Amino acid sequence: MKKTNLILFGPPGSGKGTQAKYLVDKYELLHISTGDLFRYEIGNATPLGLKAKEYMDKGQLVPDEVTIGMLKNKVDANPDVKGYIFDGFPRTIPQAEALDKFLDSQEQSVTGLVALDVDDDEIVKRLLKRGETSNRPDDSNEEVIRKRIEVYGNETAVVYDYYDRQNASHKIEGVGSIEDIFARLCQLIDGLI
Ligand code: AMP
Repeated sequence: MKKTNLILFGPPGSGKGTQAKYLVDKYELLHISTGDLFRYEIGNATPLGLKAKEYMDKGQLVPDEVTIGMLKNKVDANPDVKGYIFDGFPRTIPQAEALDKFLDSQEQSVTGLVALDVDDDEIVKRLLKRGETSNRPDDSNEEVIRKRIEVYGNETAVVYDYYDRQNASHKIEGVGSIEDIFARLCQLIDGLI
């Protein structure tokens, strides 16, 4: 049976995590956030967590092989679901290629990539505000925030083009109320599934 495999895409602070929470309820999908998985590992002081933390605290990407291995484990551990919402993954072309290959081996594919469009100034503002309460070291330092935005532009934005070449990339306006953005997302996703 074909599953629904959505990639929720956009720069840090674009609202992926917030929207994913609503989307999983509505579409009964499993939310897989690689950032959350890394933070869980860090919380448990596992070797994987300690390795990831070195990169995350600097606003850099965790190496692909570490990230891809962790993602596959999470999917393999949850086979009996209707599909997945990938949040914060893939963030590089090798990750996108690995995801496609992995899904293909299970006779599955990416249903669509949905990007939340938010400009840089709005993102810095949102992340600094989130940093006041999120307890995330990478949200409380403007230099690290700027680095994450730079990494997004240099390494991650091309993932949109990668799926665009498969006619699978879509974009919606990511500024507005949570409810309005959710409504836009649902309208788009309803057309994909
Ligand atoms: P996020 O919670 O998605 O903002 O991710 C927080 C941090 O975790 C990022 O700045 C990266 O250091 C790391 N991270 C999360 N997902 C990935 C990924 N797919 N590839 C590499 N690093 C990641």
